[in-house]
Amino acid sequence: MSGIFELTELKDRIIIAGGGLVGGVAAAMLADKGHQIDLYELRDDPRNENAAAGRSINLSLSHRGMRSLRQIGMEEECLANGVKMPARMIHKVSGETYEVPYGRTKEHFILSISRLRLNQMILTAAEKRENVNLHFNHRITDVDLSGTLKFSDKPDASGDVLIGADGAYSKVRSKMARGVFDFSQTYIPHGYKELVMDKAENGDWRLPKNYLHIWPRGQFMMIALPNLDGSFTCTLFLPFEMFKTIETQESGIAFMEEHFPDSISIFGRDNLMKQFGPGTTPGLPMISVKTSPHSVDNTVIVGDAAHAIVPFYGQGMNAGMEDIAVLMDTYAKHNDLKSAIKEYGVFRPKDAHAIADLAMYNYIEMRDLVTSNWFLFRRSLDRL
Ligand code: FAD
Repeated sequence: MSGIFELTELKDRIIIAGGGLVGGVAAAMLADKGHQIDLYELRDDPRNENAAAGRSINLSLSHRGMRSLRQIGMEEECLANGVKMPARMIHKVSGETYEVPYGRTKEHFILSISRLRLNQMILTAAEKRENVNLHFNHRITDVDLSGTLKFSDKPDASGDVLIGADGAYSKVRSKMARGVFDFSQTYIPHGYKELVMDKAENGDWRLPKNYLHIWPRGQFMMIALPNLDGSFTCTLFLPFEMFKTIETQESGIAFMEEHFPDSISIFGRDNLMKQFGPGTTPGLPMISVKTSPHSVDNTVIVGDAAHAIVPFYGQGMNAGMEDIAVLMDTYAKHNDLKSAIKEYGVFRPKDAHAIADLAMYNYIEMRDLVTSNWFLFRRSLDRL
């Protein structure tokens, strides 16, 4: 009798490719269902000191992502480590500003949170589960979709189920793409460049803190998200052709003075100038990836591996984290993980495609329509 009980209690052993924002959430959530989890990540542990020395890059965390983080007990920790943004603040060329709220009350907010800090917190939360093992410095070089990862210089790892959370250039997805699998990728003509606005001498934020700041300028724009330490991380989105015209410090600052004049004194002219020219990061590309199905054999892809989207809707990570909650809902229905990934892999792509399309739409909305549609938008809010 006890033997039968033990057999029915045996849970599929899971291996996860990638220890980014989505892989870590998957590890914690599936561990809570009693699975043995082994997660393999290319990079060193981001909780090591060297990783923490980098620049602060932040993300907006919304309801979709928070739903999953709540399920693994991280909601309070995230709120304590983020800055609430209940509204956007629009900056006109004239320097005038106005607000566009996200909802009817200040309780409708998105949260600005450091990507690195969030990744560290998620990995710590996953590791607290005794059935989770994290393996860093493991470069996946090949994949067997029955559930095996192969590495550049380490022994293979096998499980009953493989979760591919290895990002926009996923090795797991590449293997799936050799079979019956729809795949498309699009690079948009814009790139992005991050700029840092340091905190003021008194430690305060140099812009009103609880806003996602937007400087829409038609074909291009800049945004700024607050960090907990008083700084802002700004992102400049420009056509690559324009990036070519601001490759020196002088041309960079001249561009900023012409299009974002109110930001110069806020950045500090010298500080801003240092962020252009040789040795600084150039404009980086943005990719949109659509795939279907999201599962083949014993393998399922989640997050950017399944649906990298352009960042204009602030939903890439959020949709990826939501993938895990939706997968768990499907699992609850079947009470069998392999059946769940099969069903999930067929129905989830249409939602992923929808969010990818919305993000493309917001690509135009944010840089252009935010200003022109404001009165229309305000009226529709008033009607709610
Ligand atoms: P990743 O975070 O890319 O993690 C994948 C992991 O897999 C990495 O740790 C990587 O090292 C590892 N890996 C890759 N290859 C291998 C290999 N061969 N072997 C082993 N490990 C491997 N989303 C939002 O929701 N809100 C935002 O505000 C937002 N802003 C963004 C701004 C910009 C400029 C960009 C570019 C993206 C933004 N996103 C945002 C999107 C978000 O960054 C991604 O959707 C999110 O990081 C996806 O998480 P992931 O875990 O699927 O992939």
